[in-house]
Amino acid sequence: MNPNVLIIYTGGTIGMINDPQTGELRSFDFNLIDQHVPELNRLKVEMDTVSFEKPIDSSNMNPEHWIRIGELIESNYEQYDGFVVLHGSDTMAYTASALSFMFEGLKKPVILTGSQLPIGTIRTDGKENLITAIEIAASKDDSGEPIIQEVAIYFEYHLYRGNRSTKDSASNFEAIKSPNLVELATAGVHIEYHRKMLYRSKVSEFSVQKTFNERVGLIKLYPGIDLSIYKSVFDRSKVDGIVLETFGAGNAPASTEFERLCTEFISDGGIILNITQCSSGKVKHGMYETSSMFKKLGVVSGGDMTTEAAVTKMMAVLAKESRDEALDLLSRNTRGEVAY
Ligand code: ASP
Repeated sequence: MNPNVLIIYTGGTIGMINDPQTGELRSFDFNLIDQHVPELNRLKVEMDTVSFEKPIDSSNMNPEHWIRIGELIESNYEQYDGFVVLHGSDTMAYTASALSFMFEGLKKPVILTGSQLPIGTIRTDGKENLITAIEIAASKDDSGEPIIQEVAIYFEYHLYRGNRSTKDSASNFEAIKSPNLVELATAGVHIEYHRKMLYRSKVSEFSVQKTFNERVGLIKLYPGIDLSIYKSVFDRSKVDGIVLETFGAGNAPASTEFERLCTEFISDGGIILNITQCSSGKVKHGMYETSSMFKKLGVVSGGDMTTEAAVTKMMAVLAKESRDEALDLLSRNTRGEVAY
């Protein structure tokens, strides 16, 4: 029996064609995908498609959409061997990260993919991305177990862990990168899986968290930053958690005003997570004098987490855990998203 895969179409460039009358790009009826990609009929995979009622540009994604995708996977979990989520590349890494934190005990592949050029254009990258993502979602090892048992992104011959990925280019076909973790698989003549890299959940039962706490702020430091502009981010009546994107190995300018804002926010029950704005490498509190303050204040080190993983993990843990539990989860690796 062929494996079966559910394709969830949320929107983005991949699902567009050129309207022959107007020349404009528009979304097409995704149920007719095999008319646009007839190669799909030659795959030894059974496929069903489900589409967002109104496909969206991924810039319009928000936690409600992540929950919608999570619910679709939850309600179809037993019936399918794997899932492919078609999604715009702009915020794909946020959705992949969010899904990874929503799912507990995931034992099947959830592969996000998209494209830089619409599937209905001659030089599209969408066909290869779609076909290989389906193949990966359907792949099993010799004992019949899914090879991939996590949320991953397939883009331009590479499979990356979802919560390690980031959008790297607005124009290259290689739009997505995973700067701190080697890829999970490389698609050449064969799909080569890097088995040692694959994540395995120890939790036996699959469940989906359907809540996010959006009272999360994100500040990217820069030389000369005027903190008065960011005062409301430190306002505990509005914000429960702050992700700070600091310099290098987690450093910040020595400023009594900044220290005061951080101290008050934390003593008032808020949580601050420190990640680096470098595209690779990690935060090491206390490596330089300019990060020792964070250690003293109880700011959590985000290690080598991406911004996408840090923001979505903060939203996920603050939605359901007590402050102490949230602090504990933010300080350690929970889904293969971080190394320290
Ligand atoms: N703006 C589009 C989106 O993210 C770009 C893409 O599809 O890659 O939805």
